[in-house]
Amino acid sequence: MHDVAIIGGGPGGYAAALYAHNFGLSVALIEKERVGGTCLIRGCIPAKTWLQSAHVFSVVKKAGEFGVVASEPTVDWQIALARKNKVVNGLVNGLSGLLKARGVDVVEGYGSLKDGGVEVTATDLSVTQIEAANVILATGSVPRSIPGYPIDGERIVSSDHALDWESQPGRVAIIGGGVIGCEFASLLGDFGSEVHVFEALDQLLPGTDPDAVKSLDRALRKKKVKVSTSTKVGAPEITDSGVTIPYAEKSVEVDVVLVAVGRGPQTGNIGLESTSVVVDRGFVEVDRQTMQTAEPHIYAVGDIVAGTPQLAHAGFAEGIAAITHIATGAAAPVDYNSIPLVTYTDPEVAQVGVTEAQAVEQGRQVEVTSHGMRGVGRAIIQGEVGGIVKIVVEKDGPIIGATVAGPGAGEMIHELMYTVAWEALPSEAAAYIHAHPTVSEAIGETLLSASGRSLH
Ligand code: NAD
Repeated sequence: MHDVAIIGGGPGGYAAALYAHNFGLSVALIEKERVGGTCLIRGCIPAKTWLQSAHVFSVVKKAGEFGVVASEPTVDWQIALARKNKVVNGLVNGLSGLLKARGVDVVEGYGSLKDGGVEVTATDLSVTQIEAANVILATGSVPRSIPGYPIDGERIVSSDHALDWESQPGRVAIIGGGVIGCEFASLLGDFGSEVHVFEALDQLLPGTDPDAVKSLDRALRKKKVKVSTSTKVGAPEITDSGVTIPYAEKSVEVDVVLVAVGRGPQTGNIGLESTSVVVDRGFVEVDRQTMQTAEPHIYAVGDIVAGTPQLAHAGFAEGIAAITHIATGAAAPVDYNSIPLVTYTDPEVAQVGVTEAQAVEQGRQVEVTSHGMRGVGRAIIQGEVGGIVKIVVEKDGPIIGATVAGPGAGEMIHELMYTVAWEALPSEAAAYIHAHPTVSEAIGETLLSASGRSLH
């Protein structure tokens, strides 16, 4: 009998398994593939590795501007793909080793709820029953598609396939201008593919501050990416030469279509029907104080949880919260309001807390202060002046949200994460000195302006 059985070895599941050692809990982690989940195997890690190759390519392309004479770079897709695989495999192996070192019993096979425990079906179809006092569901998500665009892995693909393309696609249509759509548009645009993005809503990265999105729009235009917002595509025609996509009384022919319209929960076949766990369109309802489902000994974490962000780091935090409750009986809820969201495009776009639009929607009175990167010494030195810092402050109150677009935004957002989490007043945060010259000085300048004084 284990203290905890966890179904799913992605960020939510493996974080729970690793964290359990702090309390001496015995854990069985059931995984049907390698451990690592979407994040390590077909999500964050491989995508950011491709983005890094694209970044290096674009830096070398403009090396001449910096007085560095290099011949015109070319892309060796196979080397970039091999590097991506090496990074992924290294991290998966490292994680396997760490789980072993922590005494986690990793069980290979397909897990589903049965008789209060978990039934595991191995690849040879042998079945074993794992008894556990508590179960954590962490089965993750899979890409969705839209009607008329069945994913075939060849002409119409999801990010799962795009991360393993054997060669660089010449012409690509991306349906969905959310996080995945924008990251692929950025990297494929850098590599010189012809890219068309179709977004149904009126801006890329819906929900993100529109001025930050403008910085991204401009950068994508420079990469010759064609963006159509407020645009829905019609049914595609697949021919020998490619795929023709009708849109807005026009059409475009591409070699491949990447569908990036969101991800759906993988909860269809894990025995939930035999429990009283509440499921809404596949997402599992939990008590956000503890991550318990309607069955107190069954917890859920990660992408399958209803109403919480589908982010690896949210999954980590939820896994920790579930284990803490199992071990101590005390609630240690995740602070969803201060979880940063980073889109790893060039430039990166990062946000924390609420945007101005969300604050207004909530009926809050706010003051918004922004500062462009154009005058920031370090950004000029780096040749990366497209970007902005924006801070949302409750009237006569604390900082409640921030957005950063620009070089290193994904790193810089964390100082604003603390200001939001700790409900800092702009004047309190502005009292601290940023090193010069750094890109982060843009945050210092914005905080100073938000506190009623400004320097540059
Ligand atoms: P998403 O929800 O971020 O974006 C989907 C986009 O598709 C939306 O902008 C939506 O308006 C658009 N869309 C939906 N139907 C459409 C249609 N018929 N035509 C045109 N556009 C349409 O989803 P995603 O980009 O697929 O990412 C899935 C999940 O993975 C997200 O929750 C995301 O947060 C997560 N993710 C995070 C990161 C990161 O943190 N850097 C990276 C990749 C994925």
